[in-house]
Amino acid sequence: MVSTLLPLETWGLFSSGKRPVVISGPCSAESREGVLGAARAVSALGVEVFRAGAWKPRTSPHSFAGFGEEALPWLVEARAETGMKVMTEVASPLHVEAVLKAGLDAVWIGARTTTNPFLVQEIAEALRGSDLPVLVKNPMSQEVALWIGALERLADVGLKKLGVIHRGFTSCEPSRYRNLPYWQIPISLKQQIAGLPVFCDPSHIAGDRSYVSEIAHQASDIGFDGLMIECHQNPSAALSDASQQITPAELGRLLRSLEHRSVSVEDGQMQALLDDYRARIDRLDADLLQTLAHRMEISEQIGLLKKEHQLSVVQPQRWEKLEERAVKNGADLGLDADFVRRLFRLIHQASIERQF
Ligand code: PEP
Ligand code: MN
Repeated sequence: MVSTLLPLETWGLFSSGKRPVVISGPCSAESREGVLGAARAVSALGVEVFRAGAWKPRTSPHSFAGFGEEALPWLVEARAETGMKVMTEVASPLHVEAVLKAGLDAVWIGARTTTNPFLVQEIAEALRGSDLPVLVKNPMSQEVALWIGALERLADVGLKKLGVIHRGFTSCEPSRYRNLPYWQIPISLKQQIAGLPVFCDPSHIAGDRSYVSEIAHQASDIGFDGLMIECHQNPSAALSDASQQITPAELGRLLRSLEHRSVSVEDGQMQALLDDYRARIDRLDADLLQTLAHRMEISEQIGLLKKEHQLSVVQPQRWEKLEERAVKNGADLGLDADFVRRLFRLIHQASIERQF
């Protein structure tokens, strides 16, 4: 059970009292100059927490994997110069030890790590006794139980400054985004865990800088507590996630275009959106039942006609055609062929029973 979480405003990271709060900085800490330059630029935009990955989980072993511990003093220097709080990603107990030793202000657990309960447990143990704020990114797959499990492991060692970052989910569905948002998942997580601060990372959802702003706006409209946005002074030359990072000028435009809300309305907006989704589902379910009932009535009429003219109830050819057409129409609407086939077989069965 994740209970007794401390509210975001008591974490000592954000003091403006406005929502969404903003974390920004480059994907990775590439050099001391790069870190300091980016920190100065985002701090000038009012960003309160600076991010930069010291250890980078990369798909290929030949890609830039971060400077590791060597990068931590750069973050400490960025804090001293700008006054921002600083955070990085931890993916092992060794990372946690180094971060605690360097005195960073917060950490996040990356999507690939959340997927692994052994690692999350080791990280939690390493954090035991500290009161470091931890933001847990969603696992790569839509397995919400893993996300909740990670939070529970952290809560069980006594951590109370816990939040989550929604960075989208890997999916085979065609999409212009790198990771699909499936907004209902973080919204329902927020519902399930009282007081859980929920951040959105539009950069990793987008995967392309041209979509970052639209996703940030959606998150803000839904009522997310915060945003984590990747920002680099020269994105196309970045050593990781080059295509999704935005420049400080673009970040400035994005932040100015967001309507920051006061703290009090945030939960209301998230709740209102969820209520709206559910009301729409309820209406659609009622329509579905009406349509099915109507379909059965017509089936019955057909049954009477067949009886009158001594035709057999089941007409395989007609049924094959009907199923084929349903699967094709369903596919055009993005519905899974197997699902449509199973659904129509059930309907057909019920229809036949009405005609006896
Ligand atoms: C990151 O924030 O740079 C990162 C690696 O994120 P994720 O775990 O969401 O891929
Ligand atoms: Mn990144």
